[in-house]
Amino acid sequence: MNRQGLLELVLKWISDGHIEQYMADHQHDPNCNELWLYYTSVINWVKTIFPTYRKEMKGLPWGEIYNEFGNKALDTAALEAKVAALMQDPEVQKKSGIYQYVLTGNEKYLNLRTFDDAVKREVYERQGGICPHCVAEHREKTHWEIDEMEADHITPWVEGGKTVAENCQLLCVEHNRRKSSN
Ligand SMILES: [Zn+2]
Repeated sequence: MNRQGLLELVLKWISDGHIEQYMADHQHDPNCNELWLYYTSVINWVKTIFPTYRKEMKGLPWGEIYNEFGNKALDTAALEAKVAALMQDPEVQKKSGIYQYVLTGNEKYLNLRTFDDAVKREVYERQGGICPHCVAEHREKTHWEIDEMEADHITPWVEGGKTVAENCQLLCVEHNRRKSSN
């Protein structure tokens, strides 16, 4: 990244995306010291919290991460143990998302594996097109077409569940939405 690109990135971070407001507020500053001190703080924080460098750390929105977590007490050793374990987990498809995941706990950063159409078909036949939750609730309609059903991890990933047919069940759309919003 060239100096101009870096400057824009640091401006975005320090202003939380409100670059024009920041520029207006700081138009009479004699120099850019505040910007570079902030940038140094971000870099030092990252090196302190994640001392093991991995190439996946490149290009992450570290300023935004620092703005949110820079003043929190974090267990560096525990974070590294989690990062190392997740790097080896084949269910995690987006390794660079691990850093934000270990801080936020939000699985969206990991791009976890999903069931493919072949597994979905296999499980559909196994279940005979029946949604087990519809059965459990004694619904009148329990049978659905395959495109009316969604694949669900019986044991969720966070509890060690894998993306394999044995851990897959098909639920009707309504029950799958209800389960994933729990
Ligand atoms: Zn159902």
